[in-house]
Amino acid sequence: MVKDKRGRPLRDLRISLTDRCNMRCSYCMPREHFPADHPFLPKSEILSYEELASLIHAMIPLGLEKVRLTGGEPLLRRDLCEFIKLIPSELDIAMTTNGLLLGKFAEELKLAGLKRVTVSLDAIDIETFQVMSDTKANPETVLRGIESARLAGLKVKVNTVIRAGYNEHSIKAIPERFLGTDVIVRFIEFMDVGETNSWNLQEVVTGDQMRSMFDHLKSLEANNIGEVANRYKFGNQEIGFIESVSKPFCNDCSRARISADGALHTCLFSSDGHDLKAILRMGASKDDLSKAISTIWNGRSDAYSEQRGSVEHTKVEMSYIGG
Ligand code: SAM
Ligand code: SF4
Ligand code: SF4
Repeated sequence: MVKDKRGRPLRDLRISLTDRCNMRCSYCMPREHFPADHPFLPKSEILSYEELASLIHAMIPLGLEKVRLTGGEPLLRRDLCEFIKLIPSELDIAMTTNGLLLGKFAEELKLAGLKRVTVSLDAIDIETFQVMSDTKANPETVLRGIESARLAGLKVKVNTVIRAGYNEHSIKAIPERFLGTDVIVRFIEFMDVGETNSWNLQEVVTGDQMRSMFDHLKSLEANNIGEVANRYKFGNQEIGFIESVSKPFCNDCSRARISADGALHTCLFSSDGHDLKAILRMGASKDDLSKAISTIWNGRSDAYSEQRGSVEHTKVEMSYIGG
């Protein structure tokens, strides 16, 4: 099993399947920076499904256990289910989506081998939803997508980013909406990813502040090492808090990311990736790829969230690197 400089394994791979999205969440792809004519990656630069599958196969001997499909919006990538079928079923295969197209694809995704889906939903009232996502979409479409995923047999989590002044009321409203279901809601602190989302600390609602809005929360043990959410029992429901700003979890971070154009990033907040596409397109074997990835991982010392405020570098955008 490969380890980095701090002894952290490479267990979890997030793949950005596309840098495009059908939403323009202000905290991720603000419309003024990502207009309709934004120069998104051309198709020739994007890794094919076969190329991505080769990378996954090369990472399995290094200790890979989980693959998460993300983006951009992964459901915009054509024939996504064909890719899922190429991923070895021994891996935990998950996806993060904004849910707008989930109703259409849920059953097919499950049949292809997807096990879990995380659906991003920042509000259930239409006004706040449309402001947060900067779309004319209706949250009911996402809610119907979640229902289709559950009916198809997928395990569902909901991710809710809380941004002060925008959607604090979702902290109560969203768990209430899923009361009596097995859907786990997880609140995410607004993060300073990329360079375009006008992040400032005043707009971060910390996990502690969110928890103070609930009575009778009971803390739960972590499911496994590297779990990003701090878990709590709320009545019969589980809710979680991803507190990357106020309680960094770099110490256990075992996540690698591949951008849509094939760069390996060893931290969500990195500036440069390692160009795996070039190695792939030079005809590298599985062993060559494993060795290259192993060398990159051995040299990893990332811990951005622990050092926030004391590091200055230009960060890549989350839609490019994969959330
Ligand atoms: N488009 C898909 C979606 O929204 O689920 C997948 C990609 S998105 C980049 C992955 C996750 O990152 C989403 O749950 C989103 O809410 C979260 N995210 C994006 N920007 C963020 C930010 N600035 N702070 C915290 N979470 C963020
Ligand atoms: Fe798109 Fe997801 Fe980013 Fe929102 S968070 S803009 S849905 S990639
Ligand atoms: Fe992992 Fe980087 Fe996030 Fe720390 S800041 S938890 S190293 S992705």
